Amino acid sequence: MTISNNFNHIKDSLPADCRLIAVSKTHPVEVLQEAYDSGIKVFGENKVQELLTKYDKLPHDIEWHLIGHLQRNKVKYIAPFISLIHSVDSLALLKEIDKEAAKNNRVIPVLLQIHIAEEETKFGLSFDEATALLHSEELKSLQHILIKGLMGMATNTTDEVHIKMEFRKLKQFFDSLKGVTLPNVKLEELSMGMSSDYKVAAEEGSTMVRIGSAIFGQRNYTI
Ligand SMILES: *Cc1c(COP(=O)(O)O)cnc(C)c1O
Repeated sequence: MTISNNFNHIKDSLPADCRLIAVSKTHPVEVLQEAYDSGIKVFGENKVQELLTKYDKLPHDIEWHLIGHLQRNKVKYIAPFISLIHSVDSLALLKEIDKEAAKNNRVIPVLLQIHIAEEETKFGLSFDEATALLHSEELKSLQHILIKGLMGMATNTTDEVHIKMEFRKLKQFFDSLKGVTLPNVKLEELSMGMSSDYKVAAEEGSTMVRIGSAIFGQRNYTI
């Protein structure tokens, strides 16, 4: 089966400590079930509604990652089961996740999304904003979130040198935060790399690559 061949081929090319997240957005439940049956257990989705539909229909030992922009009013729907939210880009969102996690009696692991690309349209915190968030008084009181690391998306360009430079800056920033010692901050994950740039990301120290089209094929945007 090509999905599992693609997955295994990419996985074998990654360093042992780099996890592969299968980004299944836009693909139907049957395709995910097929991927699941071949042994893929971690899926990334970028829209809450689509994630919920798939969560309902698929086995519950799947690890679901939210990788897309999250609106505060939708946190409550994913709080009971989400394994990792890659896209936290404000303290307000973090507080909402904390509140909903508390209601579900759990701690939700999250990553701070950092804006490293040139495009203005991509979400994320600047390095300064992330630093301010990590040093804010308000963060200290949040007992139902765990900040596990950072996520970033490079500029959509074929210029590999440029992409490498952006990932390297993110890794340097990540390393510079090693001194942050709070009970709810444990920075060990660096989520960077997609189908077009995961090799560069892995070279630059990614611990999680989020790959869609190179596993599932081109997306059908009409779904
Ligand atoms: C869609 C998406 C990916 C995967 O993109 P591919 O190019 O298909 O690998 C990774 N990260 C985020 C945030 C995405 O939205």
